[in-house]
Amino acid sequence: MKRSTHLALGAATGLLVAASSSLPVAAGAIWLGVAGGGFPDWLDLRSDLRRSLRLRHRGASHGLPFVAGMSALLGVALWSLASGAVDAPTWLVPTEATARTWTAAFALGMLSHLLADACTHAGIRPLLPFSRWRVWLLPGFLRGRSDGWINGLAMLASAGAIGSVVVWRVALWSGFA
Ligand SMILES: [Zn+2]
Repeated sequence: MKRSTHLALGAATGLLVAASSSLPVAAGAIWLGVAGGGFPDWLDLRSDLRRSLRLRHRGASHGLPFVAGMSALLGVALWSLASGAVDAPTWLVPTEATARTWTAAFALGMLSHLLADACTHAGIRPLLPFSRWRVWLLPGFLRGRSDGWINGLAMLASAGAIGSVVVWRVALWSGFA
């Protein structure tokens, strides 16, 4: 999948997670969804870590243990702020509900990346580094190239999801729903 598609899927995921939240919470969720959606490829293709850790594209960064680990790190950091375990300026302290929403947005944003890549020919190996088992989401004849029709469909689905939530929120706000 192309980078723009992963970012759009991440934004859609974040927005869906925070569909009924306040605007600032939703904005944070969209940002974290985008960050989660872009993170696995950023790590493999652009970060300074890729050389020092000898990362290959779609390696451990595209696995469920990594998603769980990264989400847990973010969750603990946000929870420490929310619970007051760490001192921070009040404007930086989220409520516990916000901490949960933001952690979910990041985790699901990363998952959207894995699911999207699992629709392509190469598939993903979700149990790395523990197992090299490879998995695809679609039967062989439906799998596509990373820049092919699957990519276009994912982009459309993201735009559709974002558009629907925005229309729904505007309707609620203006009293039509
Ligand atoms: Zn990827």
